[in-house]
Amino acid sequence: MTIPVRPEGSTMSDSGNSLFATALDQFNRGADLIDLSDDLRSILSQPKNEIIVNFPVRLNNGSYRVFRGYRIQHSNLLGPYKGGVRFHPMVDLDEVKALASWMTWKSALCDIPFGGAKGGISFDPNGLEPDELERVVRRFTHALGSNIGPDHDIPAPDLGSNSQSMVWMMDTYSNSMGATERQNVKRIVTGKTLETGGSPGREKATGQGVVFCLQHWADEVDFDLAGATVSIQGFGNVGSATARIMQVHGARVVAVSDHAGAVADEDGIDAFELTDWVRERGTVAGFPGGMWIEPDDFWAVPADIVIPAALENQITAGNAGQIQAKVIVEAANGPTTLQAEKILAQREIDVLPDILVNAGGVVVSYFEWLQNRSAQRWNLDDVDFKLRETLWKACDAVVDLRDELDVTSRRDAAYAVALRRLQVVYGQRGIFP
Ligand code: GLU
Repeated sequence: MTIPVRPEGSTMSDSGNSLFATALDQFNRGADLIDLSDDLRSILSQPKNEIIVNFPVRLNNGSYRVFRGYRIQHSNLLGPYKGGVRFHPMVDLDEVKALASWMTWKSALCDIPFGGAKGGISFDPNGLEPDELERVVRRFTHALGSNIGPDHDIPAPDLGSNSQSMVWMMDTYSNSMGATERQNVKRIVTGKTLETGGSPGREKATGQGVVFCLQHWADEVDFDLAGATVSIQGFGNVGSATARIMQVHGARVVAVSDHAGAVADEDGIDAFELTDWVRERGTVAGFPGGMWIEPDDFWAVPADIVIPAALENQITAGNAGQIQAKVIVEAANGPTTLQAEKILAQREIDVLPDILVNAGGVVVSYFEWLQNRSAQRWNLDDVDFKLRETLWKACDAVVDLRDELDVTSRRDAAYAVALRRLQVVYGQRGIFP
């Protein structure tokens, strides 16, 4: 998979705020809605642990390169720390802190017994040979050591990592255990291949969850998804799965863009053919089944549903005014800047927030973890059924609280649902000692 290249400094939002500052702004809006105490605000405003590891790896030319890896553990109040590991040259502490906090809110919102964490290594995995990449992943796992664990902190795939990376992590961790423990630690990571203990439906889970949340929204606002037009930014795991599932539901994908190009076709781009094209070439650029357009023109393509499924800070004050959609569905984490969100609100474009719509990945990760714990294999229908049930409950909770609190922002309502759950548990457990 080719990794989108983020221009230098673009983790900064329109106002120059860091991504973690954006995450805190969102958190504080939700906290205001439920009158979260100052004590809980300051506890949840920082991750519990920030782990940085620098580790050397031998390259095939005989030299050694030192890599910097991160694991940020934001909260374990509701369960073990949980979240992906991102392999991308722009990974830094600020980004991973924001992503880790979003994991806490996602799990709380979906009412699954996990906390929030995120990790990453700042490098371009496409710049390495497969055996070099394997050594990087294994050495990173070794460097994290007992900072991760099957009931303590459970990594998963994210941008730039995949099921193979998870298998290497699992195998490395397992080999560091005593012989009698080895079979018992498969759930140290989720998002593994099916053959090594992964769950049916995990690969497409985030995209599947995006579509379940869209169905819930469509039902609420009385919109017909069959025949709807969709544009998607990013065609990696999440964007491509979302496109294929939307197409199966009768929607038309009218524009797709990625780091190297963009295509559009008002009659619809075949998501399955585009998936094959991207699998071979690493980008949508040059795809013959649509018109090539300038990436800058992508946001202005008329579509009922706009789905950012790539990096953060993509919908900005600069392009939010061009979007002609009924709804923006945040399949990516943090794709909308604070300023863009205000513009979209003024223009009465609905935003389905990331912590709700892209939570399908971590929900099916929870199912994988449960299956590993009980040495079971569920079937795909069961996984999809339980995923839909979990996400629709979360969607119901957001809509109900939005109406109860009389707010318009679904993001603010989603934070309020998540934070209320944490508030209740803190209230009962208290703060040690
Ligand atoms: N990386 C995904 C996310 O951002 C999945 C995390 C997981 O499954 O733990 O939600």
